[in-house]
Amino acid sequence: MDQDTGDTPPPNAGKIAACWARVRARLRQDVGDVEYRNWLRQMSLAGVEGEAVVVNLPTRFLRDWVRDHYGDRLRTLCQAEMPGIRVVELRVQSTARVETPVMEREAEEVAPLAESLAPAPVEVPRNDWLVPLDPRFTFDSFVVGKPNEFAHACARRVAERPAQPGFNPLFLYGGVGLGKTHLMHSIAWSLREQDPNLSVAYMSAEKFMYRFIAALRSHNTMEFKTQLRSVHVLMVDDLQFLIGKDNTQEEFFHTFNALIDAGKQIIISADKAPNDLSGIEDRLRTRLSGGIVADLHATTYELRLSILQAKASVSGVEVPPRVQELLARKIASNVRDLEGALNRVVAHAKLFGRPVTLESVPEVLSDILRAHDKRLSIDDIQRKVAEHYNIRLTEMASARRSRAVARPRQVAMYLAKQLTSRSLPEIGRRFGNRDHTTVLHAVNKITELMAEDPSFAEDVTLLRKMLEM
Ligand code: ADP
Ligand code: MG
Repeated sequence: MDQDTGDTPPPNAGKIAACWARVRARLRQDVGDVEYRNWLRQMSLAGVEGEAVVVNLPTRFLRDWVRDHYGDRLRTLCQAEMPGIRVVELRVQSTARVETPVMEREAEEVAPLAESLAPAPVEVPRNDWLVPLDPRFTFDSFVVGKPNEFAHACARRVAERPAQPGFNPLFLYGGVGLGKTHLMHSIAWSLREQDPNLSVAYMSAEKFMYRFIAALRSHNTMEFKTQLRSVHVLMVDDLQFLIGKDNTQEEFFHTFNALIDAGKQIIISADKAPNDLSGIEDRLRTRLSGGIVADLHATTYELRLSILQAKASVSGVEVPPRVQELLARKIASNVRDLEGALNRVVAHAKLFGRPVTLESVPEVLSDILRAHDKRLSIDDIQRKVAEHYNIRLTEMASARRSRAVARPRQVAMYLAKQLTSRSLPEIGRRFGNRDHTTVLHAVNKITELMAEDPSFAEDVTLLRKMLEM
């Protein structure tokens, strides 16, 4: 059953073929029949070139897959079987399979693969396509703010009236952790609730690709197509992962067209707008932008705070507003990180039965906060202190000496000394070209006052904590 019989025979072809057969047999033993059939069966030996064994695979995808998952093993086995071999070179050679009569192969080998990967369509329950939806990702739990209100409105609209011209396809894009998957699942939940018979297929682009490749290999692409084209709503998440995979992109394009033409709704997400996705064909790009394109912008402080409030209120732990504000200010990257930080704080409080406080949080989150820490500048300190004491920022550098502005200015100098690595003269210059002795005086004065007056000390400590977080 070896497929290598048709290869052009090099001088010691017989011997090499025998070695190769042993390599395949051992590989099959190692990985098991199913995996072998899925990924390795279509390897065929092209020959030996110098220190390299050259192996053909019918598609680029399979080639990459074999290289990434079995490359090392394959090399070790070849080295063991064939003296003088150092590397295995995997090439794409789409005609490699033609040598074995198709009928024979199908009778002998395709059937079990079909069994293990893609049951016949009649036996497939409709919801085979319904990849489990995350129960937490609903419209109810999605917090709407400026950065996501447009995307949210589009999603709502599509959930209410799918497949309307102008909203098909719905293309959602934005950076990681901003709520694309959450919105897609929300639409799916909502549609299912309205009509349980509606078949909604949600899948990642990777899953799409995997299914397609599996179908290709089992010669079941017709089934794949029929299944895909029978859904009412198709959602493909993280489309950027399909980019550059030519076969799969082609298939996706045809499915896409067939569904749109048949009046089905398509929802796509990606990390970039259609026009900025590199590596996709223009005709696909055009179709992707043919409905509505909505982006999820980076979060704002206000949105982060609303999300924290919403999540904290169902966490079962009291998270003081001050702590929420700190987290919203400090963890600005995306909602996923924000959620992660809140979850940690909540878990910690539950585990140790301690309340969440402004004091405990920096410790619990020290690693996360450090990762999000940007170097504190004298500007930041001046701004924060001015805000805290309700004076104008310009007073930090002004010559006015009234207590109402002089004291906050001293606090800012003190904090600049404590929290940055600037020298006294440098700090002085940033406070209206004051002398370094003035800064030193401020540092001493504030230290003294803090020792005398606990409420003043608390105030300064709080400021410091806020700046440090
Ligand atoms: P993406 O798919 O864009 O990478 P996700 O949808 O997976 O992001 O969102 C990451 C996490 O943040 C999820 O747990 C999600 O529930 C949450 N999240 C994102 N945006 C919001 C929002 N506006 N309201 C509530 N939770 C959100
Ligand atoms: Mg996602």
